[in-house]
Amino acid sequence: MNKDWAEKNKRMQSLIGKEASFREGLDVLFELRDELFGQISSIVKTFPAEAFYQMPFAGAEGYHSKTLAYSMWHIFRIEDIVAHTLIAQDDQVLFTDGWLKKTKSPLITTGNELKGAEIAHFSEQLDVKAVFEYCRAVMESTNGLLGKLEYKDLKRKFSDADRERLIGSRCVSNDEDAFWLIDYWCGKDIRGLIQMPFSRHWIMHIEAMCRIKNKLCQKARKGVDPIAYCGLSCNHCFLKDWCGGCRTAYNTCSYATCSPDGVCPNTACCREKGLDGCWGCEELSGCRKGFYAEKDINAIKAMALFIRKHGKTELAAVLDRLHQQNDFQKIQEVLGENLEQGLEILEQNRK
Ligand code: SF4
Ligand code: SF4
Repeated sequence: MNKDWAEKNKRMQSLIGKEASFREGLDVLFELRDELFGQISSIVKTFPAEAFYQMPFAGAEGYHSKTLAYSMWHIFRIEDIVAHTLIAQDDQVLFTDGWLKKTKSPLITTGNELKGAEIAHFSEQLDVKAVFEYCRAVMESTNGLLGKLEYKDLKRKFSDADRERLIGSRCVSNDEDAFWLIDYWCGKDIRGLIQMPFSRHWIMHIEAMCRIKNKLCQKARKGVDPIAYCGLSCNHCFLKDWCGGCRTAYNTCSYATCSPDGVCPNTACCREKGLDGCWGCEELSGCRKGFYAEKDINAIKAMALFIRKHGKTELAAVLDRLHQQNDFQKIQEVLGENLEQGLEILEQNRK
């Protein structure tokens, strides 16, 4: 399990377990959920539609054998059912504001009953953007519910009537791979439900989503030019396992994820100008767009200028050498903040 998330989860559990730190524990829970939801947001924002129904680990044991769309649906259907039908005893989010119609889901269940290719087929039918908005609505609704809890509520248990209400909702399939959930939830108190499904369940599935995403990125990058439009080298980038590169539809580069339409300004500009990269642009020296906007990003511009002079293959060779000699993540750690200095270091490292 991701160390940071596991530690935050552990801290949250310990804090909510004491009356004096209960509120602080809830704040940590919200922080954790926010962080985890951010992972989903960046995937939804940048990945192409077909990514959401691919099963790169089909047949494997574990949550990563599912699809991205299924994972989103499953996490938040479970949360919606538990938060509303079991705890609050009111309407699930799915049945308000037309979410069922908007998501285009053929199911109202958690999806546990789906097997193999059924998961991909179900995922393909979903409107992923609408599912994402549904997920957000569920998260906000649950946060509201959790925020109103008192320390004394943690020990609240569930009755046969609660169990019957869950069965009656028909939101959990009768299939043996799904029906056990009802007894599982009803066997917990609120504190147990905060762990599963409101925090640990998220961590497990979002980690699996990251594995699926990384695999799809690796597949997308095969055979694609590894030099990014801005001059960075995807093969030498510390995000290379996480990002498919800006020349593929699986681009999760940091600038891309926070740019409109998931395309960074350098990529968008090069495409508009029909350029292979910023090194081919006559405005490069004075450009302040995207990766060239900040002072310490001069290192990236130095690489684009280097490509202009010596080509991409030569840059890749120099970067190989720099990585053999230094232990670093971001290229600016080696090339520094000054453009001329950065260029000089690159030149010095040519054979
Ligand atoms: S963040 Fe940029 S350089 Fe790194 S892999 Fe993605 S596109 Fe390539
Ligand atoms: S204007 Fe800037 S971002 Fe656009 S292609 Fe030229 S160097 Fe790249």
